[in-house]
Amino acid sequence: MTVSSPPPASVTPAMRQYFDAKARYRDAILFFRMGDFFEMFYEDALTAARALELTLTSRSKDAAGNAVPMCGVPFHAADGYITRLVKRGFRVAICDQIEDPKQAKGVVKRDVTRVVSPGTLTDASYLDAREPAFLLALAPGTGTGAGDRLGVALLDVSTGEFLAAEYDGADGRQALNEELGVLRPREVIVAQGVEAATLLPEIVRLGIAVTPLDEWAFGVDRATKTLCDQLRTSGLHAFGLDGHPAATCAAGALVEYLRDTQKVDLAHVRAIGWRERQDGLLIDPMTFRHLEILEGAEGGRDGSLLSVLDRTQTVMGARRLRAWLMRPLTALERIQDRLDAVEEFAFKATERGRLRDTLRAVHDLERLVGRVAIGTAGPRDLVALRQSLAAIPRVRLVLEPMAAPLAQSLVGELDDLADVRDALASALVEEPPALARDGGMVRDGVDADLDALRAISRSGREHIAAMEEAERARTGIASLKIRYNRVFGYYIEISKTNLGRVPDDYHRKQTIAGGERFITPALKAYEEKVLGADEKILERELAIFGALLVQVAAAAPRVQESARALATLDVLAALGEVATLHDYTKPLMTEDGEFAVVDGRHPVVERLASEPFIPNDLSLNGTTRQLVILTGPNMGGKSTYLRQSALLSVLAQIGSFVPAKQARLPVVDRVFARVGASDNIARGYSTFMVEMRETARILHTATSKSLVVLDEIGRGTATFDGMSIAWAVAEFLVTNPRTRPRTLFATHYHELTDLADARPGVVNAHVLVREWHDDILFLRKVVDGRSDRSYGIQVARLAGLPAEVVARAREILSALEQDELARGGRPSLSGAPKAGEQLGLFAAPVAVDDELTRRLAALDVDRLTPIDALTTLAGLVRDAKARS
Ligand code: ATP
Repeated sequence: MTVSSPPPASVTPAMRQYFDAKARYRDAILFFRMGDFFEMFYEDALTAARALELTLTSRSKDAAGNAVPMCGVPFHAADGYITRLVKRGFRVAICDQIEDPKQAKGVVKRDVTRVVSPGTLTDASYLDAREPAFLLALAPGTGTGAGDRLGVALLDVSTGEFLAAEYDGADGRQALNEELGVLRPREVIVAQGVEAATLLPEIVRLGIAVTPLDEWAFGVDRATKTLCDQLRTSGLHAFGLDGHPAATCAAGALVEYLRDTQKVDLAHVRAIGWRERQDGLLIDPMTFRHLEILEGAEGGRDGSLLSVLDRTQTVMGARRLRAWLMRPLTALERIQDRLDAVEEFAFKATERGRLRDTLRAVHDLERLVGRVAIGTAGPRDLVALRQSLAAIPRVRLVLEPMAAPLAQSLVGELDDLADVRDALASALVEEPPALARDGGMVRDGVDADLDALRAISRSGREHIAAMEEAERARTGIASLKIRYNRVFGYYIEISKTNLGRVPDDYHRKQTIAGGERFITPALKAYEEKVLGADEKILERELAIFGALLVQVAAAAPRVQESARALATLDVLAALGEVATLHDYTKPLMTEDGEFAVVDGRHPVVERLASEPFIPNDLSLNGTTRQLVILTGPNMGGKSTYLRQSALLSVLAQIGSFVPAKQARLPVVDRVFARVGASDNIARGYSTFMVEMRETARILHTATSKSLVVLDEIGRGTATFDGMSIAWAVAEFLVTNPRTRPRTLFATHYHELTDLADARPGVVNAHVLVREWHDDILFLRKVVDGRSDRSYGIQVARLAGLPAEVVARAREILSALEQDELARGGRPSLSGAPKAGEQLGLFAAPVAVDDELTRRLAALDVDRLTPIDALTTLAGLVRDAKARS
């Protein structure tokens, strides 16, 4: 950057300040306050002018005689411009005046007061109210003595939510890499020299901003001290961080970064949560996508599980519900607690209704208090805070009859914050302006000085009217007017015809078309008093407002605790509401591994489908029904059944009721779903490759407490390859002693149904269909037993394939079936081949014949040259010998 060279000796003092600031924030666009504008210079000006479509001007030449490019934005509109720049991935350093220009001796002092980046921008127009906005710091263990452990810290600056975790080895890194797509941090902090993109390649694909930080900020001692300081504690034991140096380093560095860029104390960050990966139900990003938990197939919330469940009244509740879905529980007791509370909310409709009505008045307390702590809160934020706090005692009252222990303990955590509420109520008017600098937010009667100043200001109007009357009488000019404008202040206006009657003590200031304007010493003296009062009023109001902010910031942890309790109550009540509205049932949760669902439904499809949803049972256990092979027609409802079965577990383990008549469910440790297409093709892998990678991960990581649903494994390659893979995968899932998860396995390879005869624990099920004349009727009922057909051609016809293609397909199918019959029925994988033994299917001589026949049939003898014919024949003979 051109400005990194030392400034020429002859620059003005203000520009020297500019160069100093710019030298410290080279990687940011520097907004430099000059009067009513923030100006940008040099390359910053070029960049910002392009990005914001501002007019580029040039300041008088610099010492070397070059014109300095410059552009600016009005200071009162700066927030909008900053947001736009940050959205485009830039960082903005705000260099403001830090003393009153009127009081300044010499050049007014300026300094960088805040640096805004993608991870620290808390502007409401930039954030999605229903999602967190995380900053993420990474500390590879090698730098902290933690070996191959990767320390991770996550902080949502807008709410103060702060988490730390560690990921082990290459597997851990891989898991975190994939999780990035779900966590969606807005910015990643690493030590200078650490290649974040090499560590976690998804950072590049997702376009996440990476900010390098000085390495010393990641040192264990420094980070521990920074953290203890921030959390107001003498040791990190209470937060579970003892013995986790890598996570501590990441968390400490993150705080260091925030303090350095926000230049405030971060009063809303007083706690950090240790996140043990194994503590929750692990749902990998593939499964999130396939089950459409947070996002529907189209990418938005529509069609997702979240969209059906989200009947929360507050955005805090909405964020909490999303967080629950991202990490359902595995501790039976906690699941039970939530279920009990949801049950009570489901039954106590009056309390639920009252709570929901009350919560409607609650704003985003977490982000409001965040803005207070960061120093960006305006008067309306404090009014919103006051209104929200006023709801707390009502919530307590409404929930008095609740008996569920979780509901009771949440109510117990509610702090009325009467002190804060009273302070806000007594100081602030009902409808203040959005910006403190506009004044008018403090009530009368709060401050004697302010009242006195206001009295002067308010009496101004009457005083001027009286003065006008007196001057009219004195001069005999009935049309005399006293007016005000910004340039002259107060003046007396006399029309042309009356100019002869102007007294001597009037001083002419301006001639206008219809007359002249004058001032008098008395008018000037009064003006000074009134205008001085207005300025002082604003100063006083700002001081009172500032004190309020300090008081609220000090109460931030209490506000956050109440906010968390309200958010949780909101979610529990919402789940109660959903349970009642959609006729869900309370699942019976056990540790024993048996799934026994009667009339289960898909929570999303049942809401969206045009036809009535057909419920289905589910029965899985660790012995006689460990793996169910599900066959049936295309469009029959196999994928839906698979997804719904997995979703029941997710729902139950966040504490929700489930769409079923009865459900007995075990607590599972992981849910894996590979259903339908994947969007990974964009990442440079073929469909089949993606399918195999995802399947590989499942086989490596599923345990006997997991639930796996697999749809059409192997379909992306040649039939026999695919079938063999599907067979081997299913077999692995029932025989590998470590990996015996409860599994639903949908397939169009009907040969796989033979596995049920060969392996204990495997059973067949199929989706019923009824043939009627030439048509098929989908019954969507899953029953035990195998099916023999896929009805692919009928479904293709329904889909509108041209009639001649459908007819031709029938012909080919019938020829193929005849051929198979001639060879003694369909190919079979039965007999559970022993290890090392060739599968009958591939060893069969008929397969060789088939191949040779196909190649012979493909020859066009008329077009073969004699030499080609000879070579082809030689090849056929060679292959035939090799196979026989
Ligand atoms: P394919 O083998 O072609 O992938 P599939 O057997 O997996 O098909 P699904 O995709 O699950 O079939 O279902 C097809 C359609 O049928 C879905 O779009 C859904 O709307 C509807 N459907 C599925 N199950 C049910 C059900 N139980 N009740 C009502 N409609 C259902």
